[in-house]
Amino acid sequence: MSVLPILHWPDPVLSRPCAPVGTVDEAIRQFARDLLDTMYAAPGRGLAAPQVGRALRVFVMDVTWKDGAPDPVVLFDPVIDWASDVEVAGPEACLSIPGVTATVKRPASVRMRWTTLDGSAAAATFTGFAAVCAQHELDHLDGRVILDRLAPESRAAALAGYAA
Ligand code: ZN
Repeated sequence: MSVLPILHWPDPVLSRPCAPVGTVDEAIRQFARDLLDTMYAAPGRGLAAPQVGRALRVFVMDVTWKDGAPDPVVLFDPVIDWASDVEVAGPEACLSIPGVTATVKRPASVRMRWTTLDGSAAAATFTGFAAVCAQHELDHLDGRVILDRLAPESRAAALAGYAA
């Protein structure tokens, strides 16, 4: 088990698009397990590779463990192949921007495809908090944080008093 240090915005790694994982080997599997260990220790419900300094397209999430049974999911090279027209706005926090909460508007549900820990293809439709979490983490892989989804005035208000 390895708990990795979490980078804080505006670390430049958080603003850079990540490279594809490609072939799933034992090294990247171990890294994904470290991501999960780090997420649970934070404690959080989602964590993306650039948040620990690796610019790779992988994130982990577990949207149920804080309320009951753990359900860890590892997503290598995730893509959205469908998003609902209906959008919802809700508060989001980020382990890389401690103390900041921002209201972000996103599609209410999305369908994602990705490669699993054992290298096979998977797909699922996420709704509710899982949809928010998956889109938030996918944003990290594109070098985008919640602040980048805010209008300039809202961004300034969200950052008032923030010190990395
Ligand atoms: Zn985040």
